[in-house]
This record gives sequence, C-alpha cells and structure tokens, in this order.
Amino acid sequence: MTNYPIYLDYNATTPCDPLVVEAMLPFFGIHFGNAASKTHSYGWLAEESVEIARENVATLINATPNEIVFTSGATESINLAIRGIVEPYNVAETHIITFATEHKAVLDVYQYLQSKGISITILPVQSDGLPNLEELENAITPNTKLISMMYANNETGVIMPVKQLANIAQKHHIPFFCDATQAVGKIHVDVKLDEIDIMCFSAHKMYGPKGCGALFIRKKSPKLNIQPLLYGGGHERKMRSGTLNVPGIVGLGKACEISKSVLLEESKRLLSLRNLLLNHLLDDKNIILNGELNQLLPNVANIVFMNPKGNEIIKWLSKYVAISSGSACTSASIEPSHVLTAMGLSETMAANAIRFSLGRFTSEEEIIQTIKYIKEGLAISIKI
Ligand SMILES: *Cc1c(COP(=O)(O)O)cnc(C)c1O
Repeated sequence: MTNYPIYLDYNATTPCDPLVVEAMLPFFGIHFGNAASKTHSYGWLAEESVEIARENVATLINATPNEIVFTSGATESINLAIRGIVEPYNVAETHIITFATEHKAVLDVYQYLQSKGISITILPVQSDGLPNLEELENAITPNTKLISMMYANNETGVIMPVKQLANIAQKHHIPFFCDATQAVGKIHVDVKLDEIDIMCFSAHKMYGPKGCGALFIRKKSPKLNIQPLLYGGGHERKMRSGTLNVPGIVGLGKACEISKSVLLEESKRLLSLRNLLLNHLLDDKNIILNGELNQLLPNVANIVFMNPKGNEIIKWLSKYVAISSGSACTSASIEPSHVLTAMGLSETMAANAIRFSLGRFTSEEEIIQTIKYIKEGLAISIKI
C-alpha cells in the first residue's frame, strides 16, 4: 500500500493515460511548430497532427472532422455554444430551456444571460433524475432559441434520454445543445444517432490533458449561426481564434483513439467493479443509491448514508479514499448539491451523500479495500 488515498474521483478529473503523455511529448520539443505557419515544415507537421487528432475526435462521436472545434475545455465550449447561439438575438425575444441538474458550468452561463434580460426556464427533474418530456414540450414558446440537457450527470451518473430530448427540439426547429463531458469516452456517444446539434466535452475527463476540449457543431441546413467568443486570427474556421494548443489537441486525439478501442471492454469491467461496491453497500438498509441502477454510467455510484452519523463516516472514509461529496467545481462552497436536492433529497440527506467514480486505473483490489474501509467506518460510527 502506498500513502496515497485510493482514487475514486474520476468524474472530477482523470490522470493522463501514459500513451497520451507519450503522444504529446514531442510537441513540447522537436515538433513545437505553430499549426498556422504555412511556410515551413514545422508548421505543416503541427497542422497535420492537429488534423489527425480532429479525425480521431470526430470518429469517436460519429461526426465529421469539419464539425469539430478545439477549445480550452468544456467550460469554454459551453460558453461558445450557448452565448454563440443566443447573444446575436434581441434579449426580449430570447428564451432558453434547460434542466435543474445541469453542471454549474452551464447553469452559471444561463444565470449571466438572465441578468442581461434573457428569459430562462429551468425545468425540474423527477426523483430518478430524469426529465419529464411533456413538461419540456409545454415549456417551448415561439421565442425559444435553445434547449439544453447534459448527456450524463456528473454527480449521479444518470444517463439522460438525449435522443428524445433532441427530437422534441428538432420538431420545433430549436437547436439542441448537449454537455456530454461525462459521457464521451465512458459510453457510446453517437451525435448522428442522437441527432444532437451542438455538443461539448473535455480531454481531462477522459484520460487526456487539462486545458483542452472540443465543441461539435453539426453541419446542417439551415446552418447553425454561432458567433465566436474570441476574435483575432480566425483559427478553427473563425470559431475560435488563438494559436492552437497543439500538444493538448494531440493528447485529446490520442485519448479519443484509446477510448474508442477500449470503451466496450472497459465499460463492462467498470460496471462489474461498481456493482461489486454497490452489492456490499446496498444490503445495509441505511444506505440508498441515487438514481436508478439501470440508468447510470457504468463507473458511478452516488449513495446516501441515512445513518445519523453519515457525515462522520464520510469524514473517516475520506482519509483513505479520494471521493467527492458533490461536484468538485462547487466544493469550495459547502452548499448541499443542487443535483440531489433537485431529485427531491432533503438538505441533510444531500449532505450525507458521496460519489464514487471509478476509472481506467481502478483495480478490483482497490474496490475491495474501499468496501473494507466503509464497513469499518460504519462499525465505528455505531460506537460513537
Ligand atoms: C467537468 C465538467 C465540465 C467542465 O469541464 P472543464 O473542461 O473542466 O471546463 C462541464 N460539464 C460537466 C458535466 C463536467 O463534468
């Protein structure tokens, strides 16, 4: 055993796959060229490498390379998608529909737009974390310019009925934006099959580097009219100016290539490890699972300790296992999770929730050790 806690927080970030690091390294050194330099081989090689990465990214989600824009991560992609679509419209005639369990990176953009006078409808979710499709239909107005819902929830792992949501949007000729940051690389995501118009994801959630992400923008007619956030140079077909992060993009491309080849096997392995963990926990009637088991990402289990000492168990467990009690992006504040309260949990219950998220480097031994720690924590909590 090392001194490091067992890492079960892969939904917060993942380590780079060693093959990703290996692929990136030359681009910090000998292949340092600027992908926009058209006059020499340094530039050509950088550009070629970026285009190979673009193909690997596109292939993973069944898009075409010219539908991919590279960004600095999901947060930037989200801002580009949402603000790029709605800001050109007159605020008084702009309405957006989204859901209460979206990531803060999405909800904060809507809050900002609301402060500018845009009208935002945030629909609730059911106790299983899923949206009510009829409510979505009813919320659409002649001014609705965008509908957004994530692919899978970062806190609970609940997978959303994306295709059905996209179909409703399509029926009303409204673009559908999907934050797929937690889904890409974990489950099969196919933008054609799901009929998604715009979709973001991030390298560091799928064994790529931090600070690199992508936005898929469907080529369709009529063309989606997205205004860029950044001007200057016209890179990425004018959608995202700025010298390309070649090492990061190469890393994301490699991460996508690896994900595609291991996805099926890895998702089965993680499902069985996650279920091993759950089987040992859910026989305790004081522990409940958030979300329906058959509706979850294979690597996630979000549970609540109903035990009045739940908080102490979590504190104890946190010494040995790196877990999250909510979204890492909001963990600077101690507010109860907006996702769990939206699913109907009380604030106390939400405060006693923890998320286990497993990943590529999680071993069976680590899960067995984690189960031991939890059982010890439960035994100690009975004594105090
Ligand atoms: C991590 C995450 C983000 C933010 O991604 P960054 O690349 O870190 O900006 C957005 N949405 C979801 C669902 C996430 O899990």
